[in-house]
Parts: sequence; C-alpha cells; structure tokens
Amino acid sequence: MTSLSFYGGVDEIGGNKILIKDKGRLFLDFGMSFSQAKRFLSEFLQPRKCNGILDFVELGLLPWIKGIYREDYLRHCGIKDEGPSIDGILLSHSHMDHSAYIHHLREDIPIYMTRESYVIMKAIEETSKTSFTDLTTLKKTFHFIPKARDSGYKRLEGRKARIEREIRVIGSYEDFEVGEIKVKFAPVDHSLPGAASHIIETSEEAIVYTGDLRFHGRREKESKRFVKEARRASPTTMITEGTRIDSNKSITERDIEEKATKIISSFKGFVAVDYPLRDLDRLLTFYNVAKNTDRTLVVNLKQAYILEQLIGDYPGLDEVAIYIPRKNWGLIGESCTCFNGEWIPASEIEKMNPYYIRRDYDKWEREFLDLENTITYKDLQEEPGEYIFRCDFFELKELIDIKPEEGIYIRSMTEPFDEEMIIDYVKVKNWLKHFNLTLIEEGMHASGHASGPEILEAIREIEPEKVYPVHTENKEKFKTLEKDKIKIISPKKEGEIIT
Ligand SMILES: [Zn+2]
Ligand SMILES: [Zn+2]
Repeated sequence: MTSLSFYGGVDEIGGNKILIKDKGRLFLDFGMSFSQAKRFLSEFLQPRKCNGILDFVELGLLPWIKGIYREDYLRHCGIKDEGPSIDGILLSHSHMDHSAYIHHLREDIPIYMTRESYVIMKAIEETSKTSFTDLTTLKKTFHFIPKARDSGYKRLEGRKARIEREIRVIGSYEDFEVGEIKVKFAPVDHSLPGAASHIIETSEEAIVYTGDLRFHGRREKESKRFVKEARRASPTTMITEGTRIDSNKSITERDIEEKATKIISSFKGFVAVDYPLRDLDRLLTFYNVAKNTDRTLVVNLKQAYILEQLIGDYPGLDEVAIYIPRKNWGLIGESCTCFNGEWIPASEIEKMNPYYIRRDYDKWEREFLDLENTITYKDLQEEPGEYIFRCDFFELKELIDIKPEEGIYIRSMTEPFDEEMIIDYVKVKNWLKHFNLTLIEEGMHASGHASGPEILEAIREIEPEKVYPVHTENKEKFKTLEKDKIKIISPKKEGEIIT
C-alpha cells in the first residue's frame, strides 16, 4: 500500500514537505512555507532556538511527527527521542522553500541531493549569519560536557559539537533505493543550479514529482529529457508544481541579455544590477551582457564563494571582478585610521601588518582578499564605465561610498508581490532617486517556473492517471486535464491519501 501525506506546498507556493509511505518512508523536500511564516513572523520576530521545534510546531510551520526531529532540540524541551522513523529525504533543489527545515531534522536521516544542491547548501551554511542553517552539518546544542582540566562542566561548542549529516550526493539518472523504494533523480531546468525532478517506484506504482521546473531556461533540454523518462516509467501518480499555471508566456534569459545589452551599449556611466544571489543562470546572462558591452561583471563575496565551488558550468572566478565592501573598521580603499596617536591611510596599515585589514572579514571571506581581480568602491568611482556592479538590496549602502553621479539600475528580479516586498521596493526607489539612478525593470526577469501551457503539455505527455497539484495558488486551472482523462486530486494539508 502506498500513501501520500502533504505537510506543505498545499494551496501555497513553496513549503513542500510530502511524505510517501510504502515499503519505506521518505519525504519529498522539507521546505519552509514563506506564506505561513509571514503570517506570524518578521525580521526581528523569529522562533526561539531555546524552545527547539516547539515554536515552529505552535505556529504551524513544522508538522508534529515522531522520530524525525533532532534529538538535542527534543531533549531540551523534555521530549523523548524516538529514533528515526523515516528512511530519507529526497531534496529536489536548495531553494529555502524546499530545504530550509532540514535544519530541524535528525542528523542520521539520509538526505539525497545533487552535487550542486550540496554546494549551495554548504555555501548557505558557511556564509550566512542567520540561525537555523544546520543544513549539511548539525551543531549539537544544549549539551554540557566535563571540563578537561578542572572539575565541573562546560558547554559543548565549536568543532566538537559538529556532526556531519548523512548527505548522499546522487548523479543524474543514477538508480538508488530509500527503504525499499526505488528512486532516480532527473536534472531539470530551474532558477538555480542542481534542480532535479524525481522518478519514484514504490511496490505498487510509479510516482513522478516535478519539484520546481521550467522549460524556457538554458537547460530546457534537461527538462524535456525528464518528461520523456517520466513517461517511460508509466506513472500512475504525478505530483506537480503549478506556480505559473495561470501564465501563458515566459521571458527567457536570451531576451534579458539582448535587451540589457542594447540599453548598456549606448551608455558609458555607472551600471548596477540586482538579480537573485544563487541564480547562476542570471549571473551568466549579465556576464554575457558585460562581455557584449566591454565591461566586467562585479560579484559579491557570497557569489564568488559559490562560483569557486561550481567550476566548469559557469564563468570562472578570474572572469569576473569581486567586490570587497568596507566592513567593521572599514580599512580598505582610501580610508584612514588612528594608529598609535597618528592618522595614517589604510595602505600604510596594510604594509605594516595586512592582518589589521583582514580582521574586518569573516574567515571564509579572507581567502578572496588577495585575488588580483578584487575591486573596491574606489575602482567603481574612478572607472564606472568598466563594470556592471551587482548590487542587491543589502548592498545599496555601497552607493554611499561609490557616489555615482548618475547611472542605470537594472532590477532583474520577480515583481514585489507581498507587503514586505513592496515596502522594500519603495526603499530601493528612494535610494535610486537619491543617487540619480534610472530604474529599468520591464522585461528583465525570467521566471524559474514553467508557464501553464508548458506544464499542461508536459503532464499530457507523461500521461499519469492522477495529478496532485502543489506549489500553486491556482490548482483549479489543472482541471482542464480532465478532458484528457487525467484525474486532478486536490491534496489536503496533513491529510493522508492512499494512492
Ligand atoms: Zn519552490
Ligand atoms: Zn525553486
């Protein structure tokens, strides 16, 4: 008997957590529901770590299931640990709405993912400052250990507290088993590297899960191959995303490249662009735009970190410029500071002891400081026509150092669709007005999700008996498939369905 339980992704975009029970138990993704989180939380109103998973459960962010959550959190809240009750998690890709709550899972539950997903999760874990990012390792919390020398106890911290998670990196179309369920990962096109759809064989039927996918990006062929391979598996059940089921058209990366090239080629001044941090296809688009317009794309340290790990598929680290911002004491560029009672420039300090400057940066950032292709605000100030500067929301403050007299700001992102995003969008506009930058955004974003006709065509080709729409707010649009004798089943949140 095979059953499906949907703990997220129902009537909402993201938060996918789908449990398959057969001769084995596995979860498809274990992501965060942004819509549910936004109902209760904001930047400075976050769940407490001291209450383990209980704040999350209280607010309906995590389901209460025995034997899946990390033992250190449970014990701290006086809950008995029950041992692992599932055999694994299949991760479709490393966007937060599919992966974030892995943080709360037991470290001995294997997580199956592609190499690129692993690289990105590692990067998030190592380069972000937010809590709840134990994605590839688990930092055991709330434990005391005996002191080595004196009597008494100390907190378990640092390297000793780290436990590697059971991560299994899976290649394209490699056969593997979770419990006794057979699985294959099919790489697909999406707005970050390493996205995969899943072809699953339980004891009774084949199930196909799309994760997030599109057919209009650079890896369209991979999505098309997935459709063919999925059809070959003759699935009875298909769990499909439907983010853009109500849209008919898709802007492509090529459209953006052409349009941006045209705009920038006739302009010699300062150009900034904002695109999603982990969307390396978009990075490639603006890398091409920079090449077409005799400029160099400038990325931040977090993007440099990812590029360094994903060699081969994307521009090399030496083919872009890396922006080093002023941090903490801000001793980079032309700044001065007081040294032993005297005012001296940063360059002198660096000669004396480079460590004084390095101290401003996190350990992972320091390895980039000595590269020849690093730049600071000074370079952007002196030769604005040489670069395309990636400048996201949090980097707008760099404009104060760069002091552009005029310029172009390309917003290559999804349109703001909720209150918080609109508030930030207004702030972006205020910054741009302050620095005399012209906002260009129309036709500058390609979605990571397939359009309605593309999704429907893929389903018709795969020809499952039943379709469960997830990751959508428009599931009724799938009803048109009933003409093709495909049954549309609306999953209920936390409801178990025997397939
Ligand atoms: Zn998603
Ligand atoms: Zn996604």
